[in-house]
Amino acid sequence: MQVLLLDLDETLYPRGNGVLARVDARINAYLHERIGVPAHEVDVVRRRLRDAHGTTLRGLEARYEVDVEDYLATVHGVDLSDLLSPAPGLRALLRRLPGRKAVFTNAPRQHAEQVLGLLDLSDAFEEVVAIEDLSLRPKPDPLAYHAVTARLGVEARACVMVDDTRANVVAGARAGMRTVWLAPTPQDDESVHHVITSLHELERVLAPRGSGHSGA
Ligand SMILES: [Mg+2]
Repeated sequence: MQVLLLDLDETLYPRGNGVLARVDARINAYLHERIGVPAHEVDVVRRRLRDAHGTTLRGLEARYEVDVEDYLATVHGVDLSDLLSPAPGLRALLRRLPGRKAVFTNAPRQHAEQVLGLLDLSDAFEEVVAIEDLSLRPKPDPLAYHAVTARLGVEARACVMVDDTRANVVAGARAGMRTVWLAPTPQDDESVHHVITSLHELERVLAPRGSGHSGA
């Protein structure tokens, strides 16, 4: 049976809606207050850690002394209720789509549960595979893809993954998954199987195989 693996942030809710900006502000505060990074450097340091290590947390672990649980609780304990609201259209779409559905996110479980709760999608997925389940090896690390298939007890070729971050879907294609990039604008991309600009295009993309396949 096909397994649909959906990313969380900026996939299940719109890009640039303020959620990640708020989380980033918390990370900046953590870097300044707990790690001692000068305030005027926190933005640069956060981006550098994330780009080099996949998540800021992995960068912090590699470069600094950091208490993982303290970091996750401090950064992701932020209230997002003014930024997210129930998504009945998406909920109905997920119910119509065939196969198993799971969330596959680099975010911590606490953040994923808050976001899904606010979107009223907590019960729309059989499983939430979060960073804690990936041995803190985030997408696009190949180990993350092994971890998610092992956890769900499926082979990569049974998985269709959907993510707004292109590098994550390209790595998914390399891992043997069918891939859908949720892109900001329509475009051709030979490195992934499908490009969509709205999750509502999934119904067309997941229709019988052979239609709309663009390479990879
Ligand atoms: Mg995302």
